[in-house]
Amino acid sequence: MRPIQASIHLSALEHNLAVAKSKAIDSKIMAVVKANGYGHGLLNAAKGLKATDGFAVLGLDEALSLRHAGYSQTILLLEGVFSADELSTVSEQKVSIVVHCDAQIEMLERASIPHPISVHLKINTGMNRLGFKPQNFEEVSARLERCPNVADLTVMTHFATADEALGILKPLALFKEITQECPYPSSLANSATLLRFPEAHADWVRPGIMLYGSSPIAGQSAASFNLKPVMSFDTQIISVQTLDVGESLGYGHRYTADKKTRIGVVACGYADGYPRHAPNGTPIAVSGVLTQTLGRVSMDMLYVDITDIPSAGIGASVEMWGAQVSVDDVAEASGTISYELLCAVALRVQIKVVD
Ligand SMILES: *Cc1c(COP(=O)(O)O)cnc(C)c1O
Repeated sequence: MRPIQASIHLSALEHNLAVAKSKAIDSKIMAVVKANGYGHGLLNAAKGLKATDGFAVLGLDEALSLRHAGYSQTILLLEGVFSADELSTVSEQKVSIVVHCDAQIEMLERASIPHPISVHLKINTGMNRLGFKPQNFEEVSARLERCPNVADLTVMTHFATADEALGILKPLALFKEITQECPYPSSLANSATLLRFPEAHADWVRPGIMLYGSSPIAGQSAASFNLKPVMSFDTQIISVQTLDVGESLGYGHRYTADKKTRIGVVACGYADGYPRHAPNGTPIAVSGVLTQTLGRVSMDMLYVDITDIPSAGIGASVEMWGAQVSVDDVAEASGTISYELLCAVALRVQIKVVD
């Protein structure tokens, strides 16, 4: 069997959840496990995060997987229902829904369902993706208040620049202004907001990426927030090549040796979820020693510099990211964010759960 695998460390999930709780002690935690638990496996993520107050997902199928696995916490559909026929299952399974547009209110008003549903009313405070305009808040909340299919309301928004210099000052002030008179609990904070802006913790926080041990903020390491990496993405060297000065490596000859160079050929490529855009020099570890990738990533293989790791040969262990190589550093080198790399770990990579 190919030696590649992703190990999911449940103790790191537990640790990161405890970090989130310790920073937002007065808030309930809604652990975001969308996108297959950010690539870690929905039920693996849920297992490590079982002490959470709630889970957030996108699809009703994910909510049902969690219910069937025995989780009785709040489960929120972050984009609400996509069609009216989902509402009866939502009601039966006591799933909570976001309502972000008029069409979803109409579906709720017309539905014939066994029990009323908990609704998170989404306000657009400047992201301009989902949600009602602030000036419509009063009318919309009054309409939902009147709807017999609504059990209770929570007000919610999502910040566009919580991880940037711009921060959340303006949208937070706007949210507070329009909701100050209303009695509903609120939910505002993603990971970056949770870590940077205690004034926006509110009744619920919605951390995602930090629970998986990555930093939501460019230039600030996960370790600096006391977060532990949850996934280690590992494989082995399957061939060793020696390049003389002037010889080149791989597709497009993107690396040419300027000295005698020992190369490890690694059983991991972009079809496993490693970023094809990783340049020469992307950090990677071989036999526990930090080194760098060289040459262009191919579908099933990539190359590492093992000139200074003479003990490393065929079968030597390689960590693409994990405890030694931060996924944030691989992402930064590749011009993307850890979210994309974690979510992209391919189906053909075996996931192993470890305590
Ligand atoms: C994905 C998501 C989150 C979590 O964001 P992180 O940056 O991963 O913490 C929170 N809220 C909403 C609405 C989301 O879509």
